[in-house]
Amino acid sequence: MTVKLVLLITTVASLLILENKLPFFQFQNSLRSRIAANFGLGAINSILASIWTIAFAQFIMLPQIDRGLVGAISNPVIAGILSFLIIDLYMYFWHRSMHRLPLAWRFHRLHHTDRSMNVSTAYRFHPIEIIGSSIPKLLLIWSLGISSNFVLIYELVFTVVVALHHSNLAIPEVIDRLLSLVIVTPNLHRIHHSQVVAETNSNYGSVLSWWDRVFRTNNNRPDVINIQLGLTDEHIV
Ligand SMILES: [Zn+2]
Repeated sequence: MTVKLVLLITTVASLLILENKLPFFQFQNSLRSRIAANFGLGAINSILASIWTIAFAQFIMLPQIDRGLVGAISNPVIAGILSFLIIDLYMYFWHRSMHRLPLAWRFHRLHHTDRSMNVSTAYRFHPIEIIGSSIPKLLLIWSLGISSNFVLIYELVFTVVVALHHSNLAIPEVIDRLLSLVIVTPNLHRIHHSQVVAETNSNYGSVLSWWDRVFRTNNNRPDVINIQLGLTDEHIV
């Protein structure tokens, strides 16, 4: 088993137990069928993404790039930090475009239909979005010469942070606030899953919470416990 798969299974299993013991929202409806559907979709998406990435590398990215802008940086710490920031910034803009472009929203809104968010919501994505997001990302990584080790480091951090901020785990508010200075926390992401359109269209970050502050799309609504999750007719455009 790869490091990523082991980390994914460990993180998801831990969060499933923790969010069950310490839930933030007290959902009335049964989550079992939704959890199974979300994980099933996640498994299909990860198989599709793996096949697509291999096919892309084999048949499309034929010309070998010597180094690229990031690949040319000799200091591994600087190259690593830069790689992390570039990939996370790409994820921010990708997510923002999913909300802003009507055609893209048709696929992304599936992710927002959960009215009882939990760790499985992190894997509830339309396969078209998964494949679509990988094309510019792979081109970016390839053209800048970002090393596969740095991509792996980003993906490991992404795996943990994305699972955590979709979970229903009740983290003490003060800790959530402190963490939100750097990463996208459960409370920040709950606002993104709100039924209020202006809140859905905020907090687009994946790992770092900085991009939303830099590009003024952040929302720090304090009474997160009162948020109604999911979509309304207003979202269906
Ligand atoms: Zn979204």
